[in-house]
Amino acid sequence: MPEYKAPLRDMRFVLNEVFNAGSLWESLAGLQGAVDMETAEAILEECGKIASQVLAPINRDGDENSSTWENGEVTAAPGFKDAYQTYVEAGLNGLGGNPDFGGMGMPKTLVAQVEEMVQGSNMAFGLAPMLTAGACLSLNAHGSQELKEKYLPNMYSGVWSGAMDLTEPHAGTDLGIIRTKAEANADGSYDITGTKIFITWGEHDMAENIIHLVLAKLPDAPAGPKGISLFLVPKFLVNEDGSLGERNAASCGSIEHKMGIKGSATCVMNYDGAKGWLVGEENKGLACMFTMMNYERLGVGIQGLGVAENSYQNAVAYARDRIQSRAPTGAVAKDKAADPIIVHPDVRRMLMTMRAFNEGGRAFSTYVASFLDTSKYSDDAEQAKHAEQMVALLTPVTKAFMTDVALESAIAGQQVFGGHGFIREWGQEQHVRDLRITQIYEGTNGIQALDLMGRKIVGTNGSLFKLFEQDVNDFVAAQAGNEAAAEFIEPLKAAMENLADLTQWVIDQAQSNPNEIGAASVEYLHTFGYAAYAYMWAKMAVIALPKQDDSFYKAKVETARFYVKRLLPRYIGLTATVKGGSESLYGLTDEMFETA
Ligand SMILES: Cc1cc2nc3c(=O)[nH]c(=O)nc-3n(C[C@H](O)[C@H](O)[C@H](O)COP(=O)(O)OP(=O)(O)OC[C@H]3O[C@@H](n4cnc5c(N)ncnc54)[C@H](O)[C@@H]3O)c2cc1C
Repeated sequence: MPEYKAPLRDMRFVLNEVFNAGSLWESLAGLQGAVDMETAEAILEECGKIASQVLAPINRDGDENSSTWENGEVTAAPGFKDAYQTYVEAGLNGLGGNPDFGGMGMPKTLVAQVEEMVQGSNMAFGLAPMLTAGACLSLNAHGSQELKEKYLPNMYSGVWSGAMDLTEPHAGTDLGIIRTKAEANADGSYDITGTKIFITWGEHDMAENIIHLVLAKLPDAPAGPKGISLFLVPKFLVNEDGSLGERNAASCGSIEHKMGIKGSATCVMNYDGAKGWLVGEENKGLACMFTMMNYERLGVGIQGLGVAENSYQNAVAYARDRIQSRAPTGAVAKDKAADPIIVHPDVRRMLMTMRAFNEGGRAFSTYVASFLDTSKYSDDAEQAKHAEQMVALLTPVTKAFMTDVALESAIAGQQVFGGHGFIREWGQEQHVRDLRITQIYEGTNGIQALDLMGRKIVGTNGSLFKLFEQDVNDFVAAQAGNEAAAEFIEPLKAAMENLADLTQWVIDQAQSNPNEIGAASVEYLHTFGYAAYAYMWAKMAVIALPKQDDSFYKAKVETARFYVKRLLPRYIGLTATVKGGSESLYGLTDEMFETA
């Protein structure tokens, strides 16, 4: 039976030692009195228990039995409704929410750890609170006072859940061409008509009401992305006194049969003149969505990390138990017929790869979360702006790089199990199937790479990149006399110099051929990701180097070494690929792609 243990020791290391979260929180005006380390510790402990004792045990059940649809109603997968109750009663649902409306106002640096545990123990379940948090963020940032008072408290408490309705059958990446219509009523509400697909937890029986945030177009809206508005559409209308009224004309037409995250319901939502209320201004719906996208995209990266951590833990347990063949250097378990497979170099390569990506990813997501906190809670306008720019630059990297390496990790975790990794009862194949969607939804990883390369790098003529480069350079300069750390600092310097050169190279190429941006983007994002993780590993190694008497820190240093020697050099091949240019992508006419 697969198990999940919350990686609390490493979370404490990242929060307390690498990013000094306590000092960060104290320094931010908007977080004064909101959180201290004791509260943070209690939240982590509580969430760790719920993750391992409540959510992990129903993860496989959700995969085997999934959520079901009948006559428009969805029944959540077995055990999910009770688990949801436990989760919301523990107060975890509104953790990052606005305290003015019943949220707990906790910083993202802390919430990121909670998200990792929830997603890592049961990603299908974790999507429900994740979508609610996303809807709350948009509503809190752009909704009227009346809407916020009416909806946010019950959403933060989990009595009601949230869903995000963007995608339509013909429109996913390109939301500018959506067809869902909104028509104004005399009472200030709107009638919403159209079909949305792939709506995560769009219908279910875990919460009393479901609050949909729906993108739609007004009759005279401009064409394209500038003509989209955002509407709040509840499953049940809410009376003036807050009680539930009649059922809205919003119904679930069916749910999808899918590769993974089967415990979650992925819904077709039909709106037949459903009553909705405008969130933000008319035709500014996409901007409202962007408010929550940086949080959501980091959240998807964290989903990858969480599931990959789960896969790693089970792969280690298996590798220490399963015996096959002898170690190349001679028998280790002489009392047994063969040695545990963890002695073999290739098995260690897989485990070390997973560990290096996971711990690097935990640090990287917390690094980005610290900028989210600073941009939201600092009262220093310049500091907040700098943090916002860092978030803008790094968000596509967190979403795409973290999920790409998470899938690589989960496949390695499956491979460690040999044939048993392909068999359902061991749980490893579920991780691979569950993780795959993280590369696709919330903007495909290809689109993330385009966002990084096109808007954030070429679009700013490299100015956002310079902010990240400066941060790394400051760290490198501060380690100038630290000879023990040179084995981590020098490769980091080389990776950053290469990334800076490559950044300028793509900017130059893009002047004469716009195809160079899209051609370079995925491998550029990966080159960026490997350098960013080298930065994280160097930061962690500097802290761990003097403390190696303790095996936790010894393992940190050794994993940093593995990262630098065995994973970081991948950027050299990626750089060559980027420089291979776009021409070879266009050698074939569209017809020539046909093979029969
Ligand atoms: C399980 C699941 C849950 C989901 N949950 C939600 C949800 O809760 N709410 C919601 O609104 N949506 C949800 N989605 C939808 C998801 O966000 C979209 O599927 C995704 O954004 C991609 O859109 P698409 O499927 O229409 O693909 P398309 O947009 O058709 O893209 C197809 C391919 O073309 C590429 N492509 C498209 N345009 C470009 C371009 N300009 N340059 C380069 N490449 C391009 C894409 O990267 C992709 O590889 C979910 C989807 C799934 C499968």
